[in-house]
Amino acid sequence: MSDFTYEKAQLTMTLRGMGITDSHVLSALEQIPRDLFVPPALRDHAYENASLPIALEQTISQPYIVAIMTAALQLTGRERVLEIGTGSGYQAAILSLLSRRVYSIERLRPLLVEAENRFRKLKITNVTTKLGDGSVGWPEGAPFDRIILTCAPAAIPVALLNQLKTDGIMVAPEGRGRDQSLVLIRRTEDGFEKQEVLPVKFVPLIEG
Ligand code: SAH
Repeated sequence: MSDFTYEKAQLTMTLRGMGITDSHVLSALEQIPRDLFVPPALRDHAYENASLPIALEQTISQPYIVAIMTAALQLTGRERVLEIGTGSGYQAAILSLLSRRVYSIERLRPLLVEAENRFRKLKITNVTTKLGDGSVGWPEGAPFDRIILTCAPAAIPVALLNQLKTDGIMVAPEGRGRDQSLVLIRRTEDGFEKQEVLPVKFVPLIEG
């Protein structure tokens, strides 16, 4: 079986060409085998810079978006990161290399079971998962240094803002339908600073 060395190198070059310069992020994307996170029939497309369908009408994000969001979190290796929307587990696996611990919530059990199997297979031990509605966050684990959403709420849930540490960073798609942007939120002593990064298209966050 191919180890996709050539395809991986091509993808790294594409991402560099698109302005991704963070070497830690690029090397994490090279280390995590995206082909193990996509359905077997799509394995040959795993290193294309495209989002791909996983099960249950969900998607694994485009590598460029994974790179942008991961870089925006400015990880040093010491952070506790909360992710909403485990999906295939790919984004969590990338974060596991760049932070201390990842807490990831997924509401669809079959996806979570598969993601956990992948973490086990890849010997990733610093990802803790939970089945449930991520819009309420993970109160027992809060506060978090970083929070990332990989499904889009109409508006960022207040519970998640409350679980972000002062000086913490959150990155999330926000908005419905065609009106979605990636937003970067920083918590300061005085409140929250919010910045729109680029238009995006994520699956919706479903509450409950
Ligand atoms: N990070 C994932 C992307 C998965 S797509 C990856 O790298 O593959 C977004 C995921 O968010 C889907 O799996 C969907 O089931 C999940 N999701 C939607 N609403 C949610 C909610 N309220 N809480 C937790 N997960 C949710």
